Amino acid sequence: MSDSIVGVDIDLIDGLNEAARSTYPDEFLCLIREIDGVLSEMVMIPGTVYGDSHSFLSQWMAPIDYSIAGSAHSHPGYSNEASDADKDYFSNMGGVHLITCQPYDRKSWQAYNSKGEKIKLPVIY
Ligand SMILES: [Zn+2]
Repeated sequence: MSDSIVGVDIDLIDGLNEAARSTYPDEFLCLIREIDGVLSEMVMIPGTVYGDSHSFLSQWMAPIDYSIAGSAHSHPGYSNEASDADKDYFSNMGGVHLITCQPYDRKSWQAYNSKGEKIKLPVIY
């Protein structure tokens, strides 16, 4: 779990939003892999159940894969605020977490640290 994340790849943002759109009105979620400190790739979790309104989060175990930097998920509404369940999950897992919301565009996401605090991450184009 890296504590030196320097940015997020625009392709990850686009991919996350695309997945969020296709999963809507259910929630989309995945883990994120970092490459050289940049959040770069979505990592799908086998057997993930979508659409159960955050109850899934607590069932996740932090992965052994140390290139995993955190997670990303979508909200079906227009708020990218972390819920209490989200914050619990973030603190259990550590790392950096993205939440995107409608309209699922390049401005609709927010990054959080493991304390559930909003953080700013530069977008790498
Ligand atoms: Zn959430």
